Amino acid sequence: MQQSEKIIIITAPSGAGKTSITRYLLQKYPKLAFSISAATRSPRGKEENGKDYYFMSVEKFRNHIQQNDFVEWEMVYEGKYYGTLKKELNRIWEKGQTPMLDIDVKGAIHVQQQYPDQTLSLFIEPPSVDELRKRLFGRGTETDESLQARINKAAYEISFKHHFDHIIVNDNLEKACAEAEQLILKFLARG
Ligand code: ADP
Ligand code: 5GP
Repeated sequence: MQQSEKIIIITAPSGAGKTSITRYLLQKYPKLAFSISAATRSPRGKEENGKDYYFMSVEKFRNHIQQNDFVEWEMVYEGKYYGTLKKELNRIWEKGQTPMLDIDVKGAIHVQQQYPDQTLSLFIEPPSVDELRKRLFGRGTETDESLQARINKAAYEISFKHHFDHIIVNDNLEKACAEAEQLILKFLARG
């Protein structure tokens, strides 16, 4: 592993603003590349296979687990697997870019443990669980059931926030983006 092979993790409960912050950073810094996770849930809205996720069957996902293809994987919601493929990180590093991982708290802790000297981890905290519910509802992507599953898990996920390098409270998106940006620029400049 070379020193230049860095990893940036953005983690948070669903709805806290990871995607919004990640999108802002990716469009501004070509050095950063989105790490496309494998997932067994169905695509929603305009999501595309090979761009937002590598969507796959549970059978195929389990095959990858058996082949030891993942850096980390988790059943984030009941019956729904998500994971970071080793091949995906190598694909990004080979292009001279730094992968940005939008992953859940447990996956984030596993990646940090495996790459302790190369990882910057940012936890995005919602102002409150109530505000999180409003944002998820407002996003309009969830069924009642999947919205409730996400809310039910949020307080538990927030209890992990001290495992990460920095906590960014996303009460104002512009401010949260700027804060993440400063931390990332400092991390990338590090030798
Ligand atoms: P995540 O990727 O963590 O699930 P998103 O980035 O999709 O979260 O954000 C969830 C919803 O909340 C989106 O509709 C987004 O536009 C909105 N949102 C994000 N940050 C804020 C904020 N600071 N204030 C209000 N709404 C926000
Ligand atoms: P969504 O279904 O909203 O796209 O993602 C649900 C949750 O799964 C989010 O918290 C997201 O960060 C997480 N997630 C996405 N990809 C991965 C991954 O590769 N590994 C892990 N552990 N979590 C992931």
